[in-house]
Amino acid sequence: MDQPAYQRRMPRPTPISSEERASFTPETKCRHCGGWHARSCPRVRRMVMTGEAITEVEFWPWDEWPHDLVVWPEALEQERS
Ligand SMILES: [Zn+2]
Repeated sequence: MDQPAYQRRMPRPTPISSEERASFTPETKCRHCGGWHARSCPRVRRMVMTGEAITEVEFWPWDEWPHDLVVWPEALEQERS
């Protein structure tokens, strides 16, 4: 691990547009929170990148991030059925 790592502050999450919502597929689900959202994951507080690779992820405590900015699989399933 002698490659320089840098920390990236996550941009502020934004609300989800209806176009974005329509484009969600199981393949585009977020690997950090397990749902879908616009741009950055609201659950992630800090990320450390080494080159192109994510080498460390720090999450917000469960009750300290805006859950309403995430569309959960159950909700999407209900919506589309
Ligand atoms: Zn996420």
